[in-house]
Amino acid sequence: MPYVSSDYILKYARDHKIAHGAFNVNTLIQAKAIIEACEELRCGAIIQVAEPGLAYIGGNPDFLNGTMEEKKLGAKRIAKYVKKLAEKSPIPVSLHLDHGRSYESAKMCVDAGFNSVMIDGSALPYEENVKLAKKVATYAHKHGAVVEAELGVLAGVEDHVFAASSTYTNPITAVDFLKRTGVDSLAISYGTKHGAVKGDNVKLRKEIVIATMENMMHEEIDATLVSHGSSLVPQYILNEINALGGEVGGHGIPLDQLREVIPAGISKINMDTDIRLATTRNLLEYFDQHKEKRETSKIYPLLIADRKSFEYRKYLKEYINELETNKGWNEELNEIAPLLVLAVKEIVLSASSYFGSVGDAVEIMKTVK
Ligand SMILES: [Zn+2]
Repeated sequence: MPYVSSDYILKYARDHKIAHGAFNVNTLIQAKAIIEACEELRCGAIIQVAEPGLAYIGGNPDFLNGTMEEKKLGAKRIAKYVKKLAEKSPIPVSLHLDHGRSYESAKMCVDAGFNSVMIDGSALPYEENVKLAKKVATYAHKHGAVVEAELGVLAGVEDHVFAASSTYTNPITAVDFLKRTGVDSLAISYGTKHGAVKGDNVKLRKEIVIATMENMMHEEIDATLVSHGSSLVPQYILNEINALGGEVGGHGIPLDQLREVIPAGISKINMDTDIRLATTRNLLEYFDQHKEKRETSKIYPLLIADRKSFEYRKYLKEYINELETNKGWNEELNEIAPLLVLAVKEIVLSASSYFGSVGDAVEIMKTVK
């Protein structure tokens, strides 16, 4: 039953100078798609859900305003579902909370069965971030889960994480933070940015990654580094969306720069935006090929309501209960669901081959204690 904490996957990646994509989901079938794609590639799988995603999985279409009760239901649903799939899978599978906003939400996910949680105190004053991360780490470690924290502020927007400008992580502070909190991994700010619009002159500061890793080695800190805001925003997907009537622009992190920081010490790379883009493209393509389905569709009017948007949770909201319980699917959902799965697989398969994680499942399992 290889339901294992992401720490094994990340440390293997760190020690072999590769990285693992960590993929954000908002429905159960997307989690299954990640596991299937990673099984095909024989690599470890990291599934992650942010708090709005938990509310969505818990059945609230107004996911940005979810209650703790809805998030708790979502956390229980996804943990139960992923654990069951992991038990039958030959690859290591981890379930991670992305951007946990409070001690309560991190604890709630650990209690629901997540084996990895992020506590994002990066917007807090330093000492408060330390205090919060330490409190979460103490609880999570007692219950068999690992913890990711964040230091430095990323620009951009990602599910209610706002910051007007980027403040790079100080490598000296990073070591102090890791020592004092005991967290297992740290998201650092080194030039990446949340969202699809990263500007066309992104310059990743590889030196920050190198210096942080060097400091960690000197202090014998056995932790890993994580890259947020690193979607690639593939140009071909933007072109396809826009040829199908969308109006989505943006720039991702250049792949060559991302591949340069991996051997320097980035072990986990979060992928969210690219899945949203691929999903939007697949749905637009479906209704382009099946114009006769537009009139009766519960998805199409929402899909075209905002041509600049690629927020699939909005277009799928009429089916939220069917999707999040895997029950009561009608003909439309039966036809659309495979397109959601394909979009996830496109990003998991490409990212895993770009980041070098293909084929590491069995080697990771050998490290699991
Ligand atoms: Zn993030």
